[in-house]
Amino acid sequence: MYDTQENKITPTNLQDYVIKMNGLDVDKDETEVEFELEAEATSFSTSSDSDEEIDATDCVFMSLDSFKEILKIEDYDTLKLTLQNIYDTAVELTADIEEQADKSLEEVYDRVYTSILSMDNLTQMKKAISKVKHVYLDNLSVLMRSNDVNADKSIKELHYICDPYHFLIKTDDIIVLKRELKALKKDTITKLKDLDQEVQDNIARQLKECAIKEQPVKFDVQEIKKHFDDRIIGQEEAKRDVISAIYMNKLNSDPTNKNNCLLIGPTGSGKTLLAETVAEYFDMPIEIIDTTQLTVPGYVGANLDDFLERLLNKANGNLKKAEEGIVVFDEIDKKGSDSNSDISGKGVLNTLLPFISGTTYDIRYNGRVVSFDTSKLTIFATGAFTDTANDKEKTYNGTSIGFGSTVNSKKEDIEYSKITREDLIKKGNIPAELIGRFAIVTQLSGHTLESLKSILTNSDKSALLSEKEKLANIGIELSWTNGYLEAVANEAIKLKTGARSLKSTVDKSIKDVRWEVISNLDKYSGIILTEQTVNDSLDCLLVDKNGNTIVFKDVIEEKPKLKVKE
Ligand code: ADP
Repeated sequence: MYDTQENKITPTNLQDYVIKMNGLDVDKDETEVEFELEAEATSFSTSSDSDEEIDATDCVFMSLDSFKEILKIEDYDTLKLTLQNIYDTAVELTADIEEQADKSLEEVYDRVYTSILSMDNLTQMKKAISKVKHVYLDNLSVLMRSNDVNADKSIKELHYICDPYHFLIKTDDIIVLKRELKALKKDTITKLKDLDQEVQDNIARQLKECAIKEQPVKFDVQEIKKHFDDRIIGQEEAKRDVISAIYMNKLNSDPTNKNNCLLIGPTGSGKTLLAETVAEYFDMPIEIIDTTQLTVPGYVGANLDDFLERLLNKANGNLKKAEEGIVVFDEIDKKGSDSNSDISGKGVLNTLLPFISGTTYDIRYNGRVVSFDTSKLTIFATGAFTDTANDKEKTYNGTSIGFGSTVNSKKEDIEYSKITREDLIKKGNIPAELIGRFAIVTQLSGHTLESLKSILTNSDKSALLSEKEKLANIGIELSWTNGYLEAVANEAIKLKTGARSLKSTVDKSIKDVRWEVISNLDKYSGIILTEQTVNDSLDCLLVDKNGNTIVFKDVIEEKPKLKVKE
């Protein structure tokens, strides 16, 4: 028997070491630790090459004292027996731990996929997915080479598992990639569980490598910028300010140093869209608060706690994720006006101070009281500050224009007079302490005819492009004339709501002709929207299956006649 008095192996250390090497999290209490943890534990390597990297399974751990005790043994057989006992105990312990590790395919799998899904860099993400794909592929090729007839089922399953990954790594949009990987995550684990146990164990062991060797992710600013450019047209300065603020927040874990952003710009210029794009790119939950609805605590009206509850719900109850989310205080300028009382006006702005600096709120989630810490939230505040800007009215191209107005100019991103922090305090009536809480104050410009047209044809969020895509799926080609784009943009300029009205104008002009087409898919292959369609939704063109164009109005006028003929 192995004599505990004579020799002290330190299984606690061995276990710790193996756990560390394998990246496991084994509950220590479950292992019977018979011996004292020896701080000065040392190891023998069985390898003759001293430069070789030490593997946990190649080591036997014991204290320096135990080692000295062994040196004192003079009888060869006793020495051999003692060493054999030490070796056997160590091997047994390692095997136990490895078995425990191999059992947890689902756990390892979950850890690997979660770590990939949390990445913010497309290239890194693709690399990690490719590694995972290779684990499946390697196992597939081993089985195929094995000529084992019993492996047929596993081979088939592995083929099914691998196929979607070939397509997945061709995706160049990080949002789409994450969405597809999330869907695959569920599907793959179901299929993995159908594989032979031995294959499952191999995959678990190899997947573990994918997780352990994962490098910390750095953000690729060019990639982030491209994502923003695809969605947000113009507003270059604001995009750069916001991206670099969030980038720095991500690199810095100190909440007292975080950058909050105050976005100033006319209605429909893209302030909320900017905050939403940050949330979408970095997978952060977002809550947009209409600041005009807030009252100070204790009065009827919306309270901040309600919005934090909503944020936690959006994070599916994940408190850490919610606490690192985004809160947008929309229309903050409205609270600064003198006419508002302390209960609903400036008093509310003062209650935002601790919220922004960081405080805790007791909120309810699933019947429990949860303490929500606001210090890590990224805060945006938005406002048109029209009165403040109009006060600073400026001459542009010889014409006197106001901040809220939009000018029919070819130049994109008209420069309006710059609103300073001082203007916001003095003219906007916003408490200086509140302005001080925003490291970034950036200004968006009003849209021009050209930028509105560009939103319609270039933004990923364009209602027109989205309509085109949907119709293409059912074999209908949607096209438009330049006159149509100009008319939609001019309508937006007339309404003075920036790009906000584009969607409703597009929807209005397309809804009748869409109905005609989807009700008669065998007849038509295309729709052409023209300048006149904006005022009269029946005034557009249809393309029939032979490529002939027909005026939609004529089709409608023909219909009652056709009915009479019937
Ligand atoms: P606000 O500045 O009032 O917060 P929003 O961000 O809510 O404006 O914009 C309203 C809608 O107008 C957005 O959902 C988006 O479709 C469109 N939009 C506004 N500005 C832009 C822009 N710069 N690029 C692309 N779309 C925009």
